[in-house]
Amino acid sequence: APVVVWLRRDLRLADQPALSVAASEGPVIPVFVLDDEIPGDRKLGGASRWWLHHSLEALARSLGRHRSKLILRRGDSVAELVKLAKETGAKAVHAIAHHEPWWREAEEALARKLDLHIHDGNYLLPPGAVTTGSGSPYKIYTPFAKVAIQRLPERDPLDEPALTSPATWPKSDELADWNLLPTRPDWAAGLRKDWVCGEAAAHDTLDEFLHIAPDYERDRNLPSIAGTSRLSPHLHWGEISPTQVWHALAGKRGEGVSTFRGELLWRDYAQTVIWQFPDYAKASYRHDFRHLKWRRSKEDLAAWQQGRTGYPLVDAGMRQLWTTGWMHNRVRMIAASFLIKHLLIDWREGERWFWDTLVDADYANNAVNWQWVAGSGVDANLFTRIMAPLTQSPKFDAAGYIREWVPELADLSDADIHDPPDEQRGGYPAKIIGHREARERALGAYRAMKTTI
Ligand code: FAD
Repeated sequence: APVVVWLRRDLRLADQPALSVAASEGPVIPVFVLDDEIPGDRKLGGASRWWLHHSLEALARSLGRHRSKLILRRGDSVAELVKLAKETGAKAVHAIAHHEPWWREAEEALARKLDLHIHDGNYLLPPGAVTTGSGSPYKIYTPFAKVAIQRLPERDPLDEPALTSPATWPKSDELADWNLLPTRPDWAAGLRKDWVCGEAAAHDTLDEFLHIAPDYERDRNLPSIAGTSRLSPHLHWGEISPTQVWHALAGKRGEGVSTFRGELLWRDYAQTVIWQFPDYAKASYRHDFRHLKWRRSKEDLAAWQQGRTGYPLVDAGMRQLWTTGWMHNRVRMIAASFLIKHLLIDWREGERWFWDTLVDADYANNAVNWQWVAGSGVDANLFTRIMAPLTQSPKFDAAGYIREWVPELADLSDADIHDPPDEQRGGYPAKIIGHREARERALGAYRAMKTTI
């Protein structure tokens, strides 16, 4: 009897334990279910849908090379998998563990109906594997990373398995019928220009990064140069596993490589946070922050989303995000801090916007980083440490980045571009609020929160 492999954010053939184990047990039916029901209000955002379309296309091609097929179904994952198992007489379902709360519930529901086998494989270590002396999971990144790093690498990556096909293939949806790509308006030109989706492209991206990895420590904070790996959407969609990335770095030394490993561990850490606190994206983890009087300003939120705040580095970042589905990490921190502190808008508004616009939108990484910036998280920066975007911009040498993304300022000098003088702003908006005024407003709201609780 055939075995079903249920694919979600693990769209690869190599180092895919669910696929490898299934292949050793019988003919394999790989299935992806487009599920807009189980995730509730966490349906995939627009940029995620775009990526998914191309990633599924690439995966179907790779499976074709193995004379296998990708079966596409749409609906409630549990119901669709039960139906598929019945149609095909499949004896078991294999899947990689996913820790978003809706997927955990779906895995539990499915396990009550079918012979479900869950494998680890999307993280360096499964959440909960690293514990404190008293046996509880870590809540703070630094001690977590210190212990995790001693355990790694746990295993070598798996090769692509040989696949055998079932006697007959079940029916499949047509990918084009899912309408995952935007039509009118077609906002995806910048995404098409910047990204190649799929497993092969993920490995090409890793290979390119290996050349610059020694300089990562120096370059990763400079948005004007390509100093980071840009692996985030590939890792999010599981086109490459973190174990494969870790393995590729084996034997490489230097500060750049160890800092990069630390970033990969942030990904694992974020996963342990949502595994411990499933509703982490729903409300501030620190209860006092639930009393903070956020401003509700549709105009200010729209100005931030559209890159019209009058702060060049913030606007450059928000426009890069809108155009390409990605934003440099340093700029993500500055833009997030600006929304939360300068505009005093609830971090959840920003988290939602990122969810819809990032090609690497990830429930854990997004919520953990937003709450880190807000100061409301289990591990967090201080709310009272307010980033000054106008100082950060020259500090991280962002002139080239601003010229690229805010072309109306392209002719300004390196000295002026970070904070253009009034007479040189041309059509570029005036500052939405002054830095000092914003800072005082934020600190005032914070003090008021502290006295109300
Ligand atoms: P590199 O610097 O090359 O890092 C390598 C990998 O490590 C990344 O691909 C990513 O998987 C992981 N990583 C790096 N930094 C972090 C981090 N701070 N937290 C968790 N994992 C990390 N990352 C996402 O993948 N999805 C998100 O939805 C997301 N939302 C964010 C929201 C905010 C407000 C901030 C400040 C950061 C967010 N990040 C998110 C983290 C980080 O910005 C991106 O992972 C990184 O910019 C991706 O670029 P890269 O692949 O070139 O990173």
